[in-house]
Amino acid sequence: MSSDQSWKERYFQELEAAEHREKHWTAERNSLERMLVRTCLAAEGQAPELDRLLARVRSDLRKNKVDVDGWKALQEKIDRQVALLDEVPAGKAMKRPGLSAEPEAEPKLFAGDELDLRDGASDSGSESQRLRIARRVGHLLGQLLSQVSLEPDAETRARNLQRALLSSDNWEELRDGLNQVADLIVAAVTRSQREFEGFLKRLDERLEVLQEHFFVQSSAQSGRQAASEALDRNIREEIELVGRHIQASDDLQGLKQSVSRHLEFIGQAVGKFRVEETEREKMLSEQLLAMQERVAVMEAHSEQMQGQVRKERERAMTDLLTQLPNREAWQERLSFEFNRWKRYQYPLTIGVMDIDLFKRVNDSYGHKAGDRVLQLVAREIASRLRTTDFAARFGGEEFVLLFPETNADNALIVMDKLRAHVSALPFHFGGSPVTITFSAGLTAFTPGDTEETVFDRADRALYLAKGAGRNCVRVSQRASAGILATITGA
Ligand code: GH3
Ligand code: MG
Ligand code: MG
Repeated sequence: MSSDQSWKERYFQELEAAEHREKHWTAERNSLERMLVRTCLAAEGQAPELDRLLARVRSDLRKNKVDVDGWKALQEKIDRQVALLDEVPAGKAMKRPGLSAEPEAEPKLFAGDELDLRDGASDSGSESQRLRIARRVGHLLGQLLSQVSLEPDAETRARNLQRALLSSDNWEELRDGLNQVADLIVAAVTRSQREFEGFLKRLDERLEVLQEHFFVQSSAQSGRQAASEALDRNIREEIELVGRHIQASDDLQGLKQSVSRHLEFIGQAVGKFRVEETEREKMLSEQLLAMQERVAVMEAHSEQMQGQVRKERERAMTDLLTQLPNREAWQERLSFEFNRWKRYQYPLTIGVMDIDLFKRVNDSYGHKAGDRVLQLVAREIASRLRTTDFAARFGGEEFVLLFPETNADNALIVMDKLRAHVSALPFHFGGSPVTITFSAGLTAFTPGDTEETVFDRADRALYLAKGAGRNCVRVSQRASAGILATITGA
Protein backbone atom coordinates (compact mmCIF):
# COMPACT_ATOMS: atom_id res chain seq x y z
CA MET A 1 0.00 0.00 0.00
CA SER A 2 1.55 3.34 -1.00
CA SER A 3 1.65 6.23 1.46
CA ASP A 4 -0.59 8.12 -0.96
CA GLN A 5 -3.23 5.41 -0.67
CA SER A 6 -3.10 5.13 3.11
CA TRP A 7 -3.42 8.92 3.31
CA LYS A 8 -6.53 8.78 1.16
CA GLU A 9 -8.01 6.02 3.26
CA ARG A 10 -7.41 7.92 6.47
CA TYR A 11 -8.95 10.98 4.88
CA PHE A 12 -12.12 9.11 3.97
CA GLN A 13 -12.33 7.50 7.40
CA GLU A 14 -11.98 10.90 8.99
CA LEU A 15 -14.62 12.35 6.65
CA GLU A 16 -17.04 9.57 7.50
CA ALA A 17 -16.49 10.04 11.22
CA ALA A 18 -17.01 13.79 10.84
CA GLU A 19 -20.28 13.24 8.99
CA HIS A 20 -21.40 10.85 11.67
CA ARG A 21 -20.54 13.33 14.41
CA GLU A 22 -22.35 16.10 12.60
CA LYS A 23 -25.48 14.01 12.26
CA HIS A 24 -25.32 13.17 15.92
CA TRP A 25 -24.87 16.84 16.86
CA THR A 26 -27.76 17.91 14.67
CA ALA A 27 -30.05 15.35 16.28
CA GLU A 28 -28.86 16.37 19.69
CA ARG A 29 -29.35 20.03 18.91
CA ASN A 30 -32.84 19.37 17.57
CA SER A 31 -33.91 17.52 20.65
CA LEU A 32 -32.40 20.18 22.89
CA GLU A 33 -34.23 22.87 20.97
CA ARG A 34 -37.47 20.97 21.30
CA MET A 35 -36.88 20.53 24.98
CA LEU A 36 -36.14 24.23 25.33
CA VAL A 37 -39.34 25.19 23.54
CA ARG A 38 -41.34 22.91 25.81
CA THR A 39 -39.66 24.17 28.89
CA CYS A 40 -40.41 27.73 27.80
CA LEU A 41 -44.05 26.84 27.28
CA ALA A 42 -44.19 25.12 30.64
CA ALA A 43 -42.72 28.13 32.36
CA GLU A 44 -45.22 30.53 30.86
CA GLY A 45 -48.00 32.30 32.72
CA GLN A 46 -46.20 33.60 35.75
CA ALA A 47 -45.19 37.09 34.77
CA PRO A 48 -45.91 39.01 31.56
CA GLU A 49 -42.30 40.13 31.15
CA LEU A 50 -41.02 36.60 31.58
CA ASP A 51 -43.57 35.35 29.04
CA ARG A 52 -42.32 37.92 26.55
CA LEU A 53 -38.71 36.83 27.03
CA LEU A 54 -39.62 33.16 26.71
CA ALA A 55 -41.57 33.91 23.57
CA ARG A 56 -38.44 35.50 22.13
CA VAL A 57 -36.44 32.39 22.96
CA ARG A 58 -38.97 30.27 21.09
CA SER A 59 -39.13 32.65 18.17
CA ASP A 60 -35.31 32.69 17.81
CA LEU A 61 -35.23 28.93 17.96
CA ARG A 62 -37.92 28.64 15.35
CA LYS A 63 -36.15 31.08 13.02
CA ASN A 64 -32.89 29.29 13.69
CA LYS A 65 -31.13 32.60 14.50
CA VAL A 66 -29.42 32.07 17.80
CA ASP A 67 -27.00 34.94 18.24
CA VAL A 68 -24.72 34.05 21.10
CA ASP A 69 -24.20 37.58 22.45
CA GLY A 70 -27.90 38.45 22.14
CA TRP A 71 -28.79 35.30 24.02
CA LYS A 72 -26.36 36.07 26.83
CA ALA A 73 -28.30 39.30 27.43
CA LEU A 74 -31.54 37.45 27.12
CA GLN A 75 -30.39 34.85 29.63
CA GLU A 76 -29.56 37.59 32.13
CA LYS A 77 -32.99 39.17 31.72
CA ILE A 78 -34.66 35.82 32.23
CA ASP A 79 -32.57 35.19 35.35
CA ARG A 80 -33.67 38.55 36.73
CA GLN A 81 -37.31 37.73 36.09
CA VAL A 82 -36.98 34.33 37.72
CA ALA A 83 -35.32 35.97 40.75
CA LEU A 84 -38.21 38.41 40.94
CA LEU A 85 -40.62 35.50 40.92
CA ASP A 86 -38.88 33.98 43.92
CA GLU A 87 -39.67 37.12 45.90
CA VAL A 88 -43.40 36.76 45.30
CA PRO A 89 -45.05 35.26 48.42
CA ALA A 90 -46.24 31.64 48.04
CA GLY A 91 -49.96 32.44 48.42
CA LYS A 92 -49.92 35.04 45.68
CA ALA A 93 -48.23 32.80 43.15
CA MET A 94 -51.03 30.30 43.54
CA LYS A 95 -53.83 32.80 43.03
CA ARG A 96 -55.88 32.23 39.93
CA PRO A 97 -55.63 34.72 37.10
CA GLY A 98 -58.28 37.38 37.10
CA LEU A 99 -56.79 39.44 39.90
CA SER A 100 -54.19 40.55 37.42
CA ALA A 101 -55.24 43.19 34.87
CA GLU A 102 -53.59 41.28 32.06
CA PRO A 103 -55.20 38.06 30.92
CA GLU A 104 -52.84 35.29 31.96
CA ALA A 105 -52.20 32.04 30.21
CA GLU A 106 -53.19 28.77 31.91
CA PRO A 107 -50.65 27.85 34.59
CA LYS A 108 -48.50 24.92 33.59
CA LEU A 109 -47.93 21.90 35.78
CA PHE A 110 -44.20 22.24 36.14
CA ALA A 111 -44.05 25.98 35.92
CA GLY A 112 -40.81 27.80 36.65
CA ASP A 113 -39.48 26.17 39.77
CA GLU A 114 -39.00 22.76 38.41
CA LEU A 115 -35.26 22.81 39.02
CA ASP A 116 -35.82 23.24 42.73
CA LEU A 117 -37.32 19.81 42.98
CA ARG A 118 -33.82 18.37 42.63
CA ASP A 119 -32.47 16.20 45.43
CA GLY A 120 -30.45 18.11 47.96
CA ALA A 121 -32.44 21.32 47.79
CA SER A 122 -33.16 21.26 51.48
CA ASP A 123 -32.76 24.78 52.82
CA SER A 124 -35.85 26.53 54.12
CA GLY A 125 -36.23 28.64 50.92
CA SER A 126 -36.43 25.43 48.89
CA GLU A 127 -38.77 23.93 51.43
CA SER A 128 -41.24 26.78 51.01
CA GLN A 129 -40.84 26.55 47.24
CA ARG A 130 -41.61 22.86 47.37
CA LEU A 131 -44.77 23.55 49.30
CA ARG A 132 -45.68 26.28 46.80
CA ILE A 133 -45.25 23.81 44.00
CA ALA A 134 -47.30 21.20 45.82
CA ARG A 135 -50.12 23.74 46.34
CA ARG A 136 -49.94 24.77 42.75
CA VAL A 137 -50.09 21.18 41.57
CA GLY A 138 -53.04 20.58 43.91
CA HIS A 139 -54.77 23.56 42.43
CA LEU A 140 -54.11 22.46 38.87
CA LEU A 141 -55.27 19.00 39.74
CA GLY A 142 -58.57 20.53 40.85
CA GLN A 143 -58.89 22.28 37.49
CA LEU A 144 -58.05 19.13 35.64
CA LEU A 145 -60.69 17.20 37.59
CA SER A 146 -63.32 19.79 36.71
CA GLN A 147 -62.53 19.39 33.02
CA VAL A 148 -62.23 15.65 32.63
CA SER A 149 -64.20 12.78 34.05
CA LEU A 150 -62.35 9.84 35.59
CA GLU A 151 -63.33 6.35 36.59
CA PRO A 152 -65.00 6.62 40.06
CA ASP A 153 -62.12 5.15 42.10
CA ALA A 154 -59.53 7.22 40.21
CA GLU A 155 -61.71 10.24 40.91
CA THR A 156 -61.73 9.49 44.66
CA ARG A 157 -57.98 9.00 44.65
CA ALA A 158 -57.56 12.26 42.78
CA ARG A 159 -59.75 14.19 45.25
CA ASN A 160 -57.84 12.84 48.26
CA LEU A 161 -54.60 13.65 46.56
CA GLN A 162 -55.76 17.15 45.78
CA ARG A 163 -56.73 17.72 49.42
CA ALA A 164 -53.31 16.54 50.58
CA LEU A 165 -51.50 18.71 48.06
CA LEU A 166 -53.47 21.76 49.12
CA SER A 167 -53.22 21.32 52.87
CA SER A 168 -50.38 19.02 53.91
CA ASP A 169 -47.02 20.38 55.09
CA ASN A 170 -45.41 16.97 55.16
CA TRP A 171 -42.94 16.92 52.30
CA GLU A 172 -42.66 13.08 52.21
CA GLU A 173 -46.39 12.77 51.75
CA LEU A 174 -46.37 15.54 49.17
CA ARG A 175 -43.56 13.95 47.19
CA ASP A 176 -45.51 10.69 46.93
CA GLY A 177 -48.58 12.69 45.99
CA LEU A 178 -46.74 14.51 43.22
CA ASN A 179 -45.63 11.19 41.79
CA GLN A 180 -49.23 9.97 41.77
CA VAL A 181 -50.36 13.07 39.89
CA ALA A 182 -48.51 11.82 36.82
CA ASP A 183 -50.40 8.50 36.98
CA LEU A 184 -53.69 10.34 37.29
CA ILE A 185 -52.97 12.55 34.33
CA VAL A 186 -52.15 9.51 32.26
CA ALA A 187 -55.44 7.94 33.40
CA ALA A 188 -57.38 11.11 32.61
CA VAL A 189 -55.84 11.54 29.19
CA THR A 190 -56.36 7.88 28.37
CA ARG A 191 -59.98 8.11 29.41
CA SER A 192 -60.57 11.31 27.45
CA GLN A 193 -58.93 9.70 24.49
CA ARG A 194 -61.20 6.69 24.86
CA GLU A 195 -64.27 8.86 25.22
CA PHE A 196 -63.29 10.83 22.23
CA GLU A 197 -62.58 7.75 20.21
CA GLY A 198 -66.00 6.42 21.21
CA PHE A 199 -67.52 9.72 20.20
CA LEU A 200 -65.81 9.65 16.82
CA LYS A 201 -66.81 6.05 16.31
CA ARG A 202 -70.47 6.84 16.97
CA LEU A 203 -70.18 9.85 14.73
CA ASP A 204 -68.64 7.75 12.03
CA GLU A 205 -71.42 5.18 12.31
CA ARG A 206 -74.08 7.86 12.11
CA LEU A 207 -72.47 9.38 9.07
CA GLU A 208 -72.24 6.01 7.45
CA VAL A 209 -75.92 5.33 8.05
CA LEU A 210 -76.65 8.75 6.63
CA GLN A 211 -74.59 8.09 3.56
CA GLU A 212 -76.13 4.69 3.04
CA HIS A 213 -79.54 6.29 3.33
CA PHE A 214 -78.72 8.78 0.63
CA PHE A 215 -77.13 6.17 -1.54
CA VAL A 216 -80.32 4.13 -1.43
CA GLN A 217 -82.39 7.26 -1.96
CA SER A 218 -80.49 8.31 -5.04
CA SER A 219 -82.74 6.75 -7.60
CA ALA A 220 -82.65 7.37 -11.30
CA GLN A 221 -84.97 10.36 -11.05
CA SER A 222 -83.46 13.47 -12.56
CA GLY A 223 -82.30 16.26 -10.31
CA ARG A 224 -82.53 14.03 -7.34
CA GLN A 225 -79.40 12.12 -8.24
CA ALA A 226 -77.40 15.31 -8.71
CA ALA A 227 -78.62 16.68 -5.38
CA SER A 228 -77.89 13.44 -3.64
CA GLU A 229 -74.42 13.33 -5.14
CA ALA A 230 -73.76 16.90 -4.05
CA LEU A 231 -74.86 16.06 -0.53
CA ASP A 232 -72.75 12.97 -0.53
CA ARG A 233 -69.77 15.04 -1.69
CA ASN A 234 -70.38 17.63 1.04
CA ILE A 235 -70.53 14.97 3.71
CA ARG A 236 -67.41 13.32 2.41
CA GLU A 237 -65.52 16.60 2.39
CA GLU A 238 -66.66 17.32 5.93
CA ILE A 239 -65.57 13.92 7.12
CA GLU A 240 -62.24 14.38 5.42
CA LEU A 241 -61.84 17.75 7.17
CA VAL A 242 -62.66 16.13 10.49
CA GLY A 243 -60.11 13.43 9.77
CA ARG A 244 -57.44 15.99 8.89
CA HIS A 245 -58.25 17.97 11.98
CA ILE A 246 -57.93 14.89 14.14
CA GLN A 247 -54.52 14.16 12.74
CA ALA A 248 -53.33 17.72 13.08
CA SER A 249 -54.59 18.37 16.58
CA ASP A 250 -53.93 16.94 19.99
CA ASP A 251 -56.44 19.15 21.74
CA LEU A 252 -59.48 17.00 22.55
CA GLN A 253 -61.72 19.90 23.51
CA GLY A 254 -60.98 21.73 20.29
CA LEU A 255 -61.52 18.52 18.39
CA LYS A 256 -64.94 17.94 19.90
CA GLN A 257 -65.94 21.46 19.00
CA SER A 258 -64.64 21.02 15.48
CA VAL A 259 -66.52 17.76 15.06
CA SER A 260 -69.68 19.43 16.34
CA ARG A 261 -69.25 22.24 13.84
CA HIS A 262 -68.85 19.76 11.02
CA LEU A 263 -71.84 17.83 12.21
CA GLU A 264 -73.85 21.02 12.24
CA PHE A 265 -72.80 21.75 8.69
CA ILE A 266 -73.78 18.23 7.65
CA GLY A 267 -77.08 18.65 9.44
CA GLN A 268 -77.76 21.84 7.50
CA ALA A 269 -76.84 20.18 4.22
CA VAL A 270 -79.18 17.31 5.02
CA GLY A 271 -81.95 19.72 5.97
CA LYS A 272 -81.58 21.61 2.71
CA PHE A 273 -81.57 18.37 0.79
CA ARG A 274 -84.76 17.28 2.55
CA VAL A 275 -86.56 20.51 1.70
CA GLU A 276 -85.51 20.22 -1.94
CA GLU A 277 -86.37 16.56 -1.89
CA THR A 278 -89.89 17.34 -0.68
CA GLU A 279 -90.29 19.86 -3.52
CA ARG A 280 -89.03 17.37 -6.04
CA GLU A 281 -91.26 14.64 -4.68
CA LYS A 282 -94.28 16.92 -4.84
CA MET A 283 -93.52 17.81 -8.43
CA LEU A 284 -92.88 14.19 -9.32
CA SER A 285 -96.06 12.98 -7.72
CA GLU A 286 -98.02 15.62 -9.61
CA GLN A 287 -96.40 14.51 -12.82
CA LEU A 288 -97.07 10.93 -11.90
CA LEU A 289 -100.73 11.66 -11.24
CA ALA A 290 -101.11 13.41 -14.59
CA MET A 291 -99.39 10.50 -16.29
CA GLN A 292 -101.60 8.01 -14.52
CA GLU A 293 -104.67 9.87 -15.67
CA ARG A 294 -103.40 9.93 -19.22
CA VAL A 295 -102.55 6.25 -19.06
CA ALA A 296 -106.00 5.45 -17.67
CA VAL A 297 -107.64 7.31 -20.56
CA MET A 298 -105.41 5.50 -23.01
CA GLU A 299 -106.16 2.16 -21.39
CA ALA A 300 -109.89 2.77 -21.57
CA HIS A 301 -109.53 3.76 -25.18
CA SER A 302 -107.45 0.75 -26.00
CA GLU A 303 -109.88 -1.57 -24.20
CA GLN A 304 -112.71 -0.09 -26.18
CA MET A 305 -110.76 -0.63 -29.38
CA GLN A 306 -109.92 -4.18 -28.39
CA GLY A 307 -113.58 -4.84 -27.66
CA GLN A 308 -114.51 -3.49 -31.06
CA VAL A 309 -111.89 -5.57 -32.77
CA ARG A 310 -113.10 -8.62 -30.89
CA LYS A 311 -116.68 -7.93 -31.90
CA GLU A 312 -115.66 -7.30 -35.52
CA ARG A 313 -113.78 -10.51 -35.55
CA GLU A 314 -116.65 -12.43 -33.99
CA ARG A 315 -118.96 -10.92 -36.56
CA ALA A 316 -116.55 -11.87 -39.33
CA MET A 317 -116.44 -15.44 -37.99
CA THR A 318 -120.16 -15.84 -37.38
CA ASP A 319 -122.92 -16.76 -39.80
CA LEU A 320 -125.46 -13.99 -39.77
CA LEU A 321 -128.55 -16.16 -40.25
CA THR A 322 -127.86 -19.02 -37.84
CA GLN A 323 -125.36 -17.33 -35.46
CA LEU A 324 -123.19 -20.44 -35.78
CA PRO A 325 -119.49 -20.07 -36.63
CA ASN A 326 -119.11 -19.59 -40.40
CA ARG A 327 -116.86 -21.21 -42.97
CA GLU A 328 -113.83 -18.99 -42.06
CA ALA A 329 -114.17 -19.96 -38.41
CA TRP A 330 -114.49 -23.57 -39.46
CA GLN A 331 -111.30 -23.42 -41.49
CA GLU A 332 -109.41 -21.91 -38.58
CA ARG A 333 -110.67 -24.46 -36.09
CA LEU A 334 -110.11 -27.36 -38.46
CA SER A 335 -106.44 -26.34 -38.90
CA PHE A 336 -106.02 -25.97 -35.15
CA GLU A 337 -107.51 -29.39 -34.34
CA PHE A 338 -105.70 -31.01 -37.25
CA ASN A 339 -102.33 -29.74 -35.91
CA ARG A 340 -103.17 -30.86 -32.44
CA TRP A 341 -104.15 -34.29 -33.74
CA LYS A 342 -100.88 -34.53 -35.74
CA ARG A 343 -98.90 -33.69 -32.62
CA TYR A 344 -100.72 -35.75 -29.96
CA GLN A 345 -102.50 -38.36 -32.13
CA TYR A 346 -105.64 -38.20 -30.02
CA PRO A 347 -108.84 -39.47 -31.72
CA LEU A 348 -110.54 -36.80 -33.84
CA THR A 349 -113.71 -37.22 -35.91
CA ILE A 350 -115.19 -34.92 -38.51
CA GLY A 351 -118.85 -34.79 -39.63
CA VAL A 352 -120.66 -33.26 -42.61
CA MET A 353 -124.47 -32.93 -42.50
CA ASP A 354 -126.98 -31.71 -45.10
CA ILE A 355 -130.70 -31.04 -44.67
CA ASP A 356 -132.74 -33.43 -46.74
CA LEU A 357 -134.78 -32.13 -49.68
CA PHE A 358 -134.46 -28.59 -48.46
CA LYS A 359 -135.28 -27.18 -51.84
CA ARG A 360 -138.80 -28.49 -51.34
CA VAL A 361 -139.20 -26.52 -48.06
CA ASN A 362 -138.29 -23.33 -49.89
CA ASP A 363 -140.49 -24.19 -52.79
CA SER A 364 -143.51 -25.22 -50.70
CA TYR A 365 -143.44 -22.68 -47.83
CA GLY A 366 -141.24 -19.92 -49.07
CA HIS A 367 -137.65 -18.78 -48.52
CA LYS A 368 -138.47 -17.25 -45.11
CA ALA A 369 -139.73 -20.59 -43.85
CA GLY A 370 -136.53 -22.15 -45.19
CA ASP A 371 -134.47 -19.58 -43.24
CA ARG A 372 -136.46 -20.36 -40.13
CA VAL A 373 -135.75 -24.07 -40.54
CA LEU A 374 -132.01 -23.32 -40.88
CA GLN A 375 -132.12 -21.23 -37.69
CA LEU A 376 -133.97 -23.86 -35.69
CA VAL A 377 -131.78 -26.73 -36.83
CA ALA A 378 -128.67 -24.63 -36.03
CA ARG A 379 -130.04 -23.96 -32.55
CA GLU A 380 -130.54 -27.67 -31.96
CA ILE A 381 -127.02 -28.46 -33.16
CA ALA A 382 -125.49 -25.80 -30.90
CA SER A 383 -127.48 -26.79 -27.83
CA ARG A 384 -127.05 -30.56 -28.09
CA LEU A 385 -123.30 -30.72 -28.78
CA ARG A 386 -120.68 -30.94 -26.02
CA THR A 387 -118.76 -27.72 -25.39
CA THR A 388 -115.58 -29.32 -26.67
CA ASP A 389 -117.30 -30.19 -29.95
CA PHE A 390 -117.44 -27.65 -32.74
CA ALA A 391 -120.13 -26.98 -35.36
CA ALA A 392 -120.26 -24.43 -38.19
CA ARG A 393 -122.50 -23.55 -41.10
CA PHE A 394 -120.51 -24.56 -44.15
CA GLY A 395 -122.92 -22.95 -46.61
CA GLY A 396 -126.55 -23.29 -47.75
CA GLU A 397 -128.19 -26.06 -45.72
CA GLU A 398 -124.89 -27.81 -44.99
CA PHE A 399 -123.23 -27.97 -41.57
CA VAL A 400 -119.82 -29.34 -40.52
CA LEU A 401 -118.77 -30.75 -37.14
CA LEU A 402 -115.59 -31.59 -35.26
CA PHE A 403 -115.49 -34.08 -32.36
CA PRO A 404 -112.12 -33.80 -30.57
CA GLU A 405 -111.01 -36.73 -28.31
CA THR A 406 -113.76 -38.78 -29.91
CA ASN A 407 -113.49 -41.82 -32.17
CA ALA A 408 -115.93 -42.42 -35.05
CA ASP A 409 -118.08 -44.93 -33.11
CA ASN A 410 -118.76 -42.45 -30.29
CA ALA A 411 -119.30 -39.57 -32.73
CA LEU A 412 -121.82 -41.75 -34.53
CA ILE A 413 -123.84 -42.17 -31.33
CA VAL A 414 -123.90 -38.39 -30.72
CA MET A 415 -124.71 -37.64 -34.36
CA ASP A 416 -127.53 -40.16 -34.59
CA LYS A 417 -129.14 -38.86 -31.39
CA LEU A 418 -129.10 -35.40 -32.97
CA ARG A 419 -130.57 -36.77 -36.21
CA ALA A 420 -133.37 -38.53 -34.31
CA HIS A 421 -134.08 -35.39 -32.29
CA VAL A 422 -134.30 -33.09 -35.33
CA SER A 423 -136.48 -35.52 -37.25
CA ALA A 424 -138.93 -35.48 -34.31
CA LEU A 425 -139.21 -31.65 -34.13
CA PRO A 426 -142.81 -30.51 -34.65
CA PHE A 427 -142.48 -27.96 -37.50
CA HIS A 428 -145.67 -26.31 -38.69
CA PHE A 429 -146.00 -24.41 -41.95
CA GLY A 430 -149.33 -23.02 -43.13
CA GLY A 431 -151.17 -24.98 -40.47
CA SER A 432 -149.80 -28.39 -41.50
CA PRO A 433 -147.05 -30.33 -39.65
CA VAL A 434 -143.78 -30.78 -41.53
CA THR A 435 -140.94 -33.17 -40.78
CA ILE A 436 -137.36 -31.93 -41.24
CA THR A 437 -134.53 -34.45 -41.47
CA PHE A 438 -130.86 -34.42 -42.32
CA SER A 439 -128.25 -36.89 -43.50
CA ALA A 440 -124.66 -37.00 -42.28
CA GLY A 441 -121.30 -38.53 -43.06
CA LEU A 442 -118.59 -39.14 -40.43
CA THR A 443 -114.97 -40.14 -40.54
CA ALA A 444 -112.06 -40.24 -38.08
CA PHE A 445 -108.66 -38.76 -38.81
CA THR A 446 -106.20 -41.56 -39.64
CA PRO A 447 -102.43 -41.45 -40.21
CA GLY A 448 -101.51 -39.80 -43.50
CA ASP A 449 -104.68 -37.68 -43.60
CA THR A 450 -104.72 -34.01 -44.57
CA GLU A 451 -107.50 -31.54 -43.94
CA GLU A 452 -108.70 -32.13 -47.51
CA THR A 453 -108.55 -35.94 -47.66
CA VAL A 454 -110.48 -36.27 -44.41
CA PHE A 455 -113.13 -33.77 -45.52
CA ASP A 456 -113.59 -35.53 -48.84
CA ARG A 457 -114.07 -38.85 -47.06
CA ALA A 458 -116.74 -37.38 -44.75
CA ASP A 459 -118.46 -35.80 -47.78
CA ARG A 460 -118.46 -39.16 -49.58
CA ALA A 461 -120.00 -40.79 -46.49
CA LEU A 462 -122.70 -38.06 -46.58
CA TYR A 463 -123.61 -38.88 -50.17
CA LEU A 464 -123.69 -42.52 -49.29
CA ALA A 465 -126.24 -41.61 -46.60
CA LYS A 466 -128.26 -39.63 -49.16
CA GLY A 467 -128.07 -42.58 -51.48
CA ALA A 468 -129.22 -44.89 -48.76
CA GLY A 469 -132.54 -42.97 -48.50
CA ARG A 470 -131.61 -39.92 -46.34
CA ASN A 471 -132.31 -39.30 -42.59
CA CYS A 472 -129.32 -41.45 -41.66
CA VAL A 473 -125.66 -41.24 -40.69
CA ARG A 474 -122.80 -43.00 -42.48
CA VAL A 475 -119.25 -43.57 -41.21
CA SER A 476 -116.35 -43.99 -43.58
CA GLN A 477 -113.63 -46.30 -42.21
CA ARG A 478 -110.55 -45.47 -44.12
CA ALA A 479 -108.58 -48.55 -43.04
CA SER A 480 -111.09 -50.79 -44.76
CA ALA A 481 -112.33 -48.43 -47.43
CA GLY A 482 -115.76 -49.33 -48.67
CA ILE A 483 -116.83 -51.02 -45.44
CA LEU A 484 -119.31 -48.65 -43.82
CA ALA A 485 -121.10 -48.83 -40.55
CA THR A 486 -124.61 -47.55 -40.98
CA ILE A 487 -127.31 -46.37 -38.68
CA THR A 488 -130.52 -45.66 -40.44
CA GLY A 489 -133.32 -43.77 -38.84
CA ALA A 490 -135.70 -43.98 -41.80
P1 GH3 B 1 -130.78 -33.12 -50.87
O1 GH3 B 1 -131.59 -33.92 -49.90
O2 GH3 B 1 -130.26 -33.95 -51.93
O3 GH3 B 1 -129.79 -32.33 -50.21
O4 GH3 B 1 -131.82 -32.17 -51.55
P2 GH3 B 1 -131.84 -30.61 -51.38
O5 GH3 B 1 -133.02 -30.05 -51.94
O6 GH3 B 1 -131.56 -30.24 -49.94
O7 GH3 B 1 -130.53 -30.18 -52.18
P3 GH3 B 1 -130.22 -28.97 -53.08
O8 GH3 B 1 -128.73 -28.74 -53.02
O9 GH3 B 1 -130.78 -29.30 -54.41
O10 GH3 B 1 -131.00 -27.80 -52.53
C1 GH3 B 1 -130.46 -26.95 -51.58
C2 GH3 B 1 -131.28 -25.75 -51.45
O11 GH3 B 1 -131.05 -25.03 -50.28
C3 GH3 B 1 -131.07 -24.80 -52.60
C4 GH3 B 1 -131.23 -23.44 -52.00
O12 GH3 B 1 -132.30 -22.70 -52.51
C5 GH3 B 1 -131.46 -23.70 -50.54
N1 GH3 B 1 -130.78 -22.78 -49.78
C6 GH3 B 1 -129.41 -22.61 -49.73
N2 GH3 B 1 -129.10 -21.62 -48.84
C7 GH3 B 1 -130.29 -21.15 -48.38
C8 GH3 B 1 -130.63 -20.13 -47.43
O13 GH3 B 1 -129.78 -19.45 -46.86
N3 GH3 B 1 -131.97 -19.93 -47.16
C9 GH3 B 1 -132.91 -20.68 -47.73
N4 GH3 B 1 -134.18 -20.42 -47.43
N5 GH3 B 1 -132.61 -21.59 -48.63
C10 GH3 B 1 -131.33 -21.86 -48.94
MG1 MG C 1 -126.86 -29.33 -50.03
MG1 MG D 1 -129.81 -30.74 -48.89
